[in-house]
Amino acid sequence: MRRGSNLPAVGTYNQTLVLDLIRRAPEGISRTELAERTGLSAQTLSNVARRLVGEGWIVEGTPVAAGPGKPRTPLQLRPAARCAVGIHLDPAVDTFVVVDLTGAVIAHSERTPPQMGTAADLVADLADAVEELLTAAGVPRERVLGIGVAAPGPFDAERGALFEPPLLAPAWHHAPLREHLFAATGLPTTVEKDVVAAMVGELWMDADQELDDAIFVYYGAGVGMGLAMGGTPLRGRTGNAGDVAHLGVERDGPLCECGHRGCLGAAIAPERLLVDGGVLRAGAAPTAPELRAHVDVLTRRARGGDARAAAAVERVGENLARAVVQINNLLDADVVVVGGPLWSRLAEAARPVLERAVAASRATATVRGIRLLDSALGTDVAAVGAACLVLDSALTARPADLMISSG
Ligand SMILES: [Zn+2]
Repeated sequence: MRRGSNLPAVGTYNQTLVLDLIRRAPEGISRTELAERTGLSAQTLSNVARRLVGEGWIVEGTPVAAGPGKPRTPLQLRPAARCAVGIHLDPAVDTFVVVDLTGAVIAHSERTPPQMGTAADLVADLADAVEELLTAAGVPRERVLGIGVAAPGPFDAERGALFEPPLLAPAWHHAPLREHLFAATGLPTTVEKDVVAAMVGELWMDADQELDDAIFVYYGAGVGMGLAMGGTPLRGRTGNAGDVAHLGVERDGPLCECGHRGCLGAAIAPERLLVDGGVLRAGAAPTAPELRAHVDVLTRRARGGDARAAAAVERVGENLARAVVQINNLLDADVVVVGGPLWSRLAEAARPVLERAVAASRATATVRGIRLLDSALGTDVAAVGAACLVLDSALTARPADLMISSG
């Protein structure tokens, strides 16, 4: 439905747009440059800049003489002006971060997720962990913009609740996480699927806007893809876009829970990789820290020339490549960022395989080839991405924000 706009919305949009440009220019950007980039009048810009300085978001740098005329005064972001909390609920590890306005992590903690207790217990526990981290970071409460939570899908975007993500504590199922965490902390809370959060985080760090059209491959306990089109993360109608677990990649591969063979999720499941690579016995049930240690061993062996380990990594790289090529054919994005907790441990061995397999694929239909990039955010990508969701809603100018809400 097309909606109208009104003047306060335009004012907020202009302010966000200017702040967005300032934060993407670490060296600072002058009012003249901002006027050129935004098309706003000098008067409007001057008003917006004054408001941003007054509210403490930006500072004026030292004036720089640039040819004849008035020296240019760069406007710079104050990274510590505000911050955001990110939480990643993962079957293996809960990660908590506090990030400043640039998305840089200023405090970090992680723990094995509690499995017992009611939803209220789990929420109280999350709130305690957030409180501890904010205290450790020494951040005053009034500077915290909010909390972002990244969780495995599928989730209920309308209620900010998780449906029934396998492996997460059953008490999370259908609990209104967003509402309860807001009540427990007093901080505005937003919940997002992990791969969407990861894509948001990468977009936030993407100063050159290389990722405006991009795919983020998330490889952790599960696999998923975060997608960006035209600089906007693709959420889909219900916030659950990016599920690629059942994409067929391996003929005669392992049986998937969906009843088919060779689905991506089953083909590159961490347990299969480790059993194939000779690091884990079939049927073993390692804890999360053990699993991480096993992946490190596998990577080391594969790099050291162990044929069995190398073959297992090779198969993962090839299977991932098949999925990447198919999804890229669909989107014509041509830029693929690979990350996630498992990938960051495996990348040293698996990256060359993935690159080779993507380059050699005869299924590629796009004309420019595919560029593979490493995640800028490493292991904490989903937690940092979740915090960036909060920054993103406060600081990224989107034309859609101009529209009067129908809600
Ligand atoms: Zn399947």
